[in-house]
Amino acid sequence: MLQKPGRQTQIADLRGVGPKLEKKLFKLGIREVLDLIFHLPIRYLDKTKITPIGALQPRTHAQIEGDIRGCDVLFGRRRSLICRIQDQTGTTTLRFFHFNQTQRERLRSGVRLRCFGEVRAGSTGLELYHPEYQIVDNLTEAKLEQRLTPIYPSTEGLTQNRIRNLCTQALEHLCPTGISELIKDNISSEFSLFDALIFVHSPPVGASLDLLGKGTHPAQQRLAFEELIAHHLSLRKLRQQAQLRPAPKLPFNKNAHLQFSSHLIFSLTEAQVRVSQAICANLNSTTPMLRLIQGDVGSGKTVVAALAAVQAIANGHQVALMAPTEILSEQHRLNFENWMSPLEIHVALLTGNIKGKARKKVLESIANGESQMVIGTHALFQEGVIFQKLGLTIVDEQHRFGVHQRLALRKKGGIGNHSTGTDAIMPHQLIMTATPIPRTLAMTAYADLDCSVIDELPSGRKLVETSVISNLRRHDVIQRVKKACQEGRQAYWVCTLIEESNMFEAEAAEGIAKELRLLLPKLSVGLIHGRLKPREKISIMEEFKSKKINLLVATTVIEVGVDVTNASLMIIENAERLGLSQLHQLRGRVGRGSDQSHCVLLYNSNLSQNSKERLKIMRETSDGFEIAEKDLELRGPGEVLGARQTGDVQFRIADLKRDANLIPHVKDVAQSILKNDPDAAQQIIDRWLSGNDQLANA
Ligand code: ADP
Ligand code: MG
Repeated sequence: MLQKPGRQTQIADLRGVGPKLEKKLFKLGIREVLDLIFHLPIRYLDKTKITPIGALQPRTHAQIEGDIRGCDVLFGRRRSLICRIQDQTGTTTLRFFHFNQTQRERLRSGVRLRCFGEVRAGSTGLELYHPEYQIVDNLTEAKLEQRLTPIYPSTEGLTQNRIRNLCTQALEHLCPTGISELIKDNISSEFSLFDALIFVHSPPVGASLDLLGKGTHPAQQRLAFEELIAHHLSLRKLRQQAQLRPAPKLPFNKNAHLQFSSHLIFSLTEAQVRVSQAICANLNSTTPMLRLIQGDVGSGKTVVAALAAVQAIANGHQVALMAPTEILSEQHRLNFENWMSPLEIHVALLTGNIKGKARKKVLESIANGESQMVIGTHALFQEGVIFQKLGLTIVDEQHRFGVHQRLALRKKGGIGNHSTGTDAIMPHQLIMTATPIPRTLAMTAYADLDCSVIDELPSGRKLVETSVISNLRRHDVIQRVKKACQEGRQAYWVCTLIEESNMFEAEAAEGIAKELRLLLPKLSVGLIHGRLKPREKISIMEEFKSKKINLLVATTVIEVGVDVTNASLMIIENAERLGLSQLHQLRGRVGRGSDQSHCVLLYNSNLSQNSKERLKIMRETSDGFEIAEKDLELRGPGEVLGARQTGDVQFRIADLKRDANLIPHVKDVAQSILKNDPDAAQQIIDRWLSGNDQLANA
């Protein structure tokens, strides 16, 4: 694909690359010269022109040139070196907090400087903090850059100059015919792939820094489009691979179904029935099912999963259900035992917490097929867990697991069976999530799955009434909790902290539990957080369920799946710190019974208008899809899909939010490439995902 010496040109063949540098590049996923060409800048600096000092604007990057008119060390709150610099249009200040004696001596009055840096409003007017600078010799005038300066993603010990130099070398190896144009239905006829690559690596003088900064320049869009296609194609490929091996055919079993239904204390909603039928049809086929069920919190996904499990078990196969937390695993076990014991189905629980003899026993019962329904955390899919005959795997609250975990699990599913080898069967897979995924995202993040939506809540549910209240009125809120609990209702008090650390959150929760115990001496106040042992957490949840606890102070450990129907009031502290979808998840813990439920979002009194508006959305809607769309608008896909998940899907140039308009075309174009030129499909995947081949090969 590349000009001589061809695609095999190794990084080590470039000037200045030794084993040490090679290692660093490897960290960035760069193994071949082609990878460097697809290592794209994240932003640009404009050193092609000099900005007159009089025209400087705060919060922009600028290059200036002028004479030093004085330089001094200031001893303020922080010692700093300041340097006045002047051109024909005005003066400004350079400010350095870190400097040495030599530097100080060189920056003498009269010396001419060229500097580049960010302009800020400082105490002396506009200032440049720690600019890059060079002393300009009056005799040999320094040339200006002819191109915008790209800034690349980098890693420790790898300077921008180094990486820029490598990319320039790599581009020298590239010729227009060397990189094939594989996308015929181009969104922009202006740029071929070749031209677009050259352009983004070194935009010429006059290229719009504004468009480039936003990522909407036609050259960038040309590349983003192809990258989205690459991701879509790779997921489609995963799907094909996953379906190469046959799954067991598990036909509908009327008896088992009726028996199961007769013990249910409710009848299924229409949406539940519709989704169950789709699953039922999938199971009755040797093509492995790969289905994602999206259903808002409380829509009743668990029972749909249980129905699928009953069908598999009735056909003599085992079922594994994976949940993201111990609490949730335990809760599922209780539910499934309840539902399945009349059918004499044996339910087992396996979590990291089950050790020693007990663990050995569970493992044996899984291996000999005695446990038909196996529930657990990711411990289920560790080595040493061998199923006798696994026919279906179910993943609950998928958004808590990354794409990789999901794929690893799919792989493991087959290996976990006793019957390995070429004739190994592939279990069917069902994935459940309460995070509604906007259609546009689903198409790129879940192109490997069929999707069903449970778009109806069980009847009789009352919507949770949500209010948004300032922390200044905390006292009133506490009185409200008191009253509710005295009337026999139960409440959650959720503490959140911005830090991703369990410890901080746990400490905050401890503090609040203490406060509430003091203020509400007659209530039984429980406390649950991530630092407790799994067994402790489970027993606290049991006490709450059996109403021994009136008020449960909790961290976001209760975010997913927890189901206590009598709890009908939830207070969420520092609500502004959470994403809307997460708030929606939390709020879904109440409103599960027939009582009117309430949710109070407490916010910090000095909250910005903007953030208040955001919280107001929670008051106005209880539709998870609408909330997710709003979240996507306000915070971007990272928040909607969950950090773990987007940590997996790293785009080089595309941005799911910014480029949402491209996504509908992505599917069509990918489809036609797959149909007309499967080799091209593979080439596109390779060139875009080569540094990321865990995903491509998963
Ligand atoms: P989620 O979709 O959030 O996982 P669950 O499966 O936990 O929801 O269901 C929430 C609650 O609704 C549970 O208590 C469950 O037993 C109950 N439920 C499920 N389906 C129905 C239904 N069709 N009618 C009434 N209650 C239902
Ligand atoms: Mg659930």
